[in-house]
Order: sequence, then C-alpha cells, then structure tokens
Amino acid sequence: RDLYGEERRNSAGLELGCAKQRAALTAGIANSAMPAVQARPLIPGVTVTGSEAAVISPVDGKTKAGSVVMADTGHVEAAFTAAGEGFKAWSRRPVEERAAALDKMADLMEADFNRLMAILCCEGGKTLPDGIAEIREAVDFCRYYAAEARGLFGAGRLMPGPTGEEDRYRYRGRGVFVCISPWNFPLAIFLGQVCAGLVAGNTVIAKPAEQTPLIAYEAVRMLHRAGVPEAALIYLPGDGRIGAALTAHQKVAGVAFTGSTETAWAINRALAEKRGPIVPLIAETGGINAMIVDATALPEQVCDDVMMSAFRSAGQRCSALRLLFVQSDVADSLLTMLEGAARELALGDPRLPSTDIGPVIDAEARDGILAHVEAMRQDQTLRYAGKAPGGDLAGGSWVAPHIIELDKPEALRKEVFGPVLHVVRYESKDLDKVLDAIEATGYGLTLGVHSRIDATVKMVVDRLSVGNVYVNRNTIGAVVGTQPFGGSGLSGTGPKAGGPNYLNRFALEQVVSINT
Ligand code: GLU
Repeated sequence: RDLYGEERRNSAGLELGCAKQRAALTAGIANSAMPAVQARPLIPGVTVTGSEAAVISPVDGKTKAGSVVMADTGHVEAAFTAAGEGFKAWSRRPVEERAAALDKMADLMEADFNRLMAILCCEGGKTLPDGIAEIREAVDFCRYYAAEARGLFGAGRLMPGPTGEEDRYRYRGRGVFVCISPWNFPLAIFLGQVCAGLVAGNTVIAKPAEQTPLIAYEAVRMLHRAGVPEAALIYLPGDGRIGAALTAHQKVAGVAFTGSTETAWAINRALAEKRGPIVPLIAETGGINAMIVDATALPEQVCDDVMMSAFRSAGQRCSALRLLFVQSDVADSLLTMLEGAARELALGDPRLPSTDIGPVIDAEARDGILAHVEAMRQDQTLRYAGKAPGGDLAGGSWVAPHIIELDKPEALRKEVFGPVLHVVRYESKDLDKVLDAIEATGYGLTLGVHSRIDATVKMVVDRLSVGNVYVNRNTIGAVVGTQPFGGSGLSGTGPKAGGPNYLNRFALEQVVSINT
C-alpha cells in the first residue's frame, strides 16, 4: 500500500538465469515485427505530411528500426490549440477515470512486452536486462502515479479551523503541460513525465528525444488505446527547435524536462522571459556522481557494484558512477580487480543474453566520449581500454569500457555520458577533502559509499546534499515508489520522480470556502 493506503504492486520481472524464460523472451523478441514503427506527429484534426526519415539502429549502424516524420515549428501552435481544447474535458474527468487509464496502460505494456523489448533493443540499443528493467519501471510509474492520484485528487480535504465555513483544499490540473524527455530511458522517463502530467488533470504535449521517437510513438498510441483522448496527449517528435518553440509558447502551463543541465538553463530562461503566467519547471539533469570506497569495504562487493554503476547501460544513466574515490591502502588491489572485471564484460548484440554492454546512442555520442578519453590520456593514466566489437557490428556506435586514474578529482570537469570510469586515490586522513571535491562539482544526484564503519557512512551521508545515496551497493536502478529519484543543485529542481511529492508539482492548489 502507498502513503494514502491505496493498493499498488510493482511489475513482475523475468529470471534470465532460467533457460525457459530466457528462450521465451529471445524468441518473442525475434518474432516481433521489425522494422514496423512509422511515427509521425499526432495532433487531432491535423494531417501531417512531410518526409519520412529512417531511424537507424545504433547496434550496427544499418538496421532500420522504423521511420519518423518530424514535427516542424508550425505544428506547435496547432498542438497548443488542440491540447487547450482537450483540457476542458480531460481536467473535468473524475480522477478515477484518469487513474484507470494509467492502470490499463500498465496492463497493455505487460501484454505487449516482447514487442516493446524489440523496439528498445533495436532503436535504443538496450540489452535484455536494461530493456526489462525499463519496461518494468514504465509499468511501475503508471501504477504508482495512478495510486497516488486516487489519494490526492479526489474530493479534496476538509480543512480544520475557526472560520465556521466549509474550507475544502484540493488539487486540479494546470493546463497544457510540455514534457521533454531523453533518449536514455526512452520509454520509462517519457512515460513517467507524461503519465504524471495526465493523471494530475493536465493535457500533455510530449516531445521525445530526437534519437528515440519510435518507442515514444508506440507508448502514446497505447495510452490512447488505454483511454486517454487524443486531444489530451499530443505527440510531437522533433529536435531542439521544437522543444524551444514549445517552452516559449504563451500557453504552456508547466514543463517537465529530463536531460542536460545546459538545456534546463535554456528552458528556465525561456519561461522567465515570457510576459505570461509564471509556471513550474520540473527538471532532472545530470551528475558527476561519486563513490567513496574505504579500506574496510568488501572488495568483491565493491568490484561488482562499480561494474554495475559505471558500465551498465554503457554508462548512459544520469545515476551512473563517474568518479570513484578509493582509499590508497586498497587502491592497487582494487584497481587490479576492476581491470580484470572490466575485461570480462561482453560487448555485442544487445538481444543476446550473453551481452553485458550495448552501443552508445549514436555516432555523435561515441565521438564525444572517445574525444574525452583521448584528451584525458594526455596527462592522466589510462588504466584500461576495452575493445569495441567488429564484424557485423563494426558500423554501430560503440564505446568499450575505459578506466582512467586521475591525479586529482578536479581533472574531471564535466559529466561524460558513457562507459568511462575515473578513479582517484585518497588518504584516510583526507576524507574531508574528498567530500569538498564532491561538493565542488555543484551536482547532487547519486552517491555511493562502501564502508563498514557506521560513523564514516553517517558522516558522509549527513554532509552531502545528494538526492540518492547508496550504501554498500550499486548506485543505479532506483525503484519507483520505493527509491524516489532525483537530485539537487546542478542535478535538478526536484521533486523526485516516483516519489510522493511528484504529482503535486504538476497540479494547482485550490481552496473553496463555503459559507454554510
Ligand atoms: N532512475 C535511473 C536510475 O536510477 C536513472 C535515470 C536517468 O538516467 O535519468 O538508474
């Protein structure tokens, strides 16, 4: 049960260690019709024409995952008009109906699991464990926000007090919400934002990342089938120009954004410069996430957790570990273990159960990450560089895991969104300086601490304003409703996704006082 006593359940997983389940999944993915998705803007009453661009898989650089007709800035006005009309009816629907659509959406996704997996693997280069986790997270967002909304958005709360009147406090939708989402969780984060916006009573214009329009298109069509009217959810695929036009529009009632800090600043500026309603921005951005490992930590556990945190999803998570601080007494032996473990990671076709790491999202991302490694190796120590796959996959966008030892933490100045781990040694007397260095990044998203000294753990946790702190475990894969996710400072505005304060921010507060 959630905070309001509403019942909810988390999605069921798959046991990839079980040969039968594994075989059923791989056969199911192989049998899903690909390439099949033909995405185009979905605006009621508007027939969109335009040229179809092929969406090419990052796995091999040649398989067509589908095609997309991108929106142009001319569609933005039509989208706001339709969503503004749609708001009148959708916002008045009882919350039970809005929540039921999300529950139905969760069921539809579970029923179409293999097809969604096929698209995630092909379009996004997701491995099987990553794809499964992503669909589960998407399902969890739907059910969690549905349950939360039932508690929050009902008849409202009668307030106590001395007025002798009936004072009812309630939440309602704000209007047309704009949701701009990233390619690294093209289903889960996309849906998390959209579903929160919808269930709070808003209509939504959704702009997915330009690299991953297909899975978002599928999700929107499924939501329409689940009972969300077409005028309540508009799909507008496009590049940054569409995002800029959406956030500059007078009628925007709020923006949910996940992506770079740079883009969050630009959106903030656009919202501030409008001479219109002052509206909320919910931004979830990046991090230079750290992990601190002292000499009391369990080395095997650390090794496992570092591999997972730094290299899972090819390091393309906001939560991923970038900067590992290791107490110098154990640094040599731990580095040897990490290099050995990194060598064992299998890069390859993400649909194979034996694959640990898939490609990065596109050639631009690959070139940026490799340029960073090249720059770093000039004056830092490259401890390990893996090998990208060749053969059929040579044309894909691959970056193998890298481990770089830094002479000081300040050598890493920006978030590098890929499988590159930076390691810094520290003396135990200098733990304070380590915390200073982490604070000085200005980010505050995830933090790992590996130590068996409770006082050390407490000191670190109390000192740093980091959104999600993980002790003696890895730093990724926050569970909806259990580990609400999001940071502070350069990492975002809050509230945390999958947490009890998320929906409130999408809503307006209203008090109705009746002289009875
Ligand atoms: N919630 C995800 C995790 O805990 C990360 C989300 C992101 O990359 O934006 O791994």
